[in-house]
Amino acid sequence: MRPVAMDPTTKARARLWLRSEKALGQEALPLRKSQRPVAPKTQKPISLPAGPAKGEKNAVAPSNPAPKSASGSSISLQQAAAVPSIDIFVADGPDALPPLVREEKIRLLAQLEEQQVRICRKCRLSETRTQTVFGEGDVDAPIFFIGEGPGETEDKTGRPFVGRAGHLLDQMIVAMGLKREQVYIANIVKCRPPGNRAPAPDEVETCTPYLVRQIEIVRPRVIVTLGLPAAKYMLNSNSTMGRLRGQWHEWRGIKLMPTFHPAYLLRSYTVENRQAVWSDLQKVMDEIGMKAKKRKVEEPV
Ligand code: URA
Ligand code: SF4
Repeated sequence: MRPVAMDPTTKARARLWLRSEKALGQEALPLRKSQRPVAPKTQKPISLPAGPAKGEKNAVAPSNPAPKSASGSSISLQQAAAVPSIDIFVADGPDALPPLVREEKIRLLAQLEEQQVRICRKCRLSETRTQTVFGEGDVDAPIFFIGEGPGETEDKTGRPFVGRAGHLLDQMIVAMGLKREQVYIANIVKCRPPGNRAPAPDEVETCTPYLVRQIEIVRPRVIVTLGLPAAKYMLNSNSTMGRLRGQWHEWRGIKLMPTFHPAYLLRSYTVENRQAVWSDLQKVMDEIGMKAKKRKVEEPV
């Protein structure tokens, strides 16, 4: 996580979300030493399906093979060769893999975006998109946010969460003492579902190997799913948001916190919902070693 100075405008935006003076002045704390990625004690070389990328050649073999996808289904899209090494993600979490250096992460993500996602025509969403929305953020981000799919503004700009929901997400991130540039943000589908409908199960199935690969490369300490579709996919669950949110779950050894989608929060901007999201985010901050200040979420004016 790189320190980024917080400007007065972003601080003010954080305050807006919580409507509390106390949102001001909170700075990101560095990860505790014990929480930084460490090299595993035992390293067995494995050969990767499409040839190991530099820096990944010492990846350990999983003691329990990781499931092929969170939905339990096969990831045998034509991408098996195109999106290499999906199976190397071990069940023991990101620390079980040798660290990927920053430059290597940047290279791998750029390769994935430019050579695969941008030209992808594997599902019908490619027919109506303006452009793909790969995702963005710090490649060493401790937190990886997962939304549903691009909306109109995202489809136009090629960037995730830049519309109204995106502005609220920015405020949530700033309230945590971080800047957008310090986290990673992506969606379960990379092309806009027409009319902002929810992505269909087959579209999710087809697209999510890209997301899985992004998570493999970034190796965050915590995943935060925004809204039910992302939580359902990641946890292979049919449960409700009420049951899922606020509790720690795990995805392949990485802690996962489901919370409400900012678009839902915008539709239902109640103190109760904002308190729920803030409580979820505080748990995330705690997990990554950031001190959460006690704040009151006040009535909107
Ligand atoms: N909603 C999402 O789920 N993702 C985006 O990128 C924008 C809005
Ligand atoms: Fe490809 Fe995903 Fe876009 Fe479908 S939604 S065309 S799988 S990038």
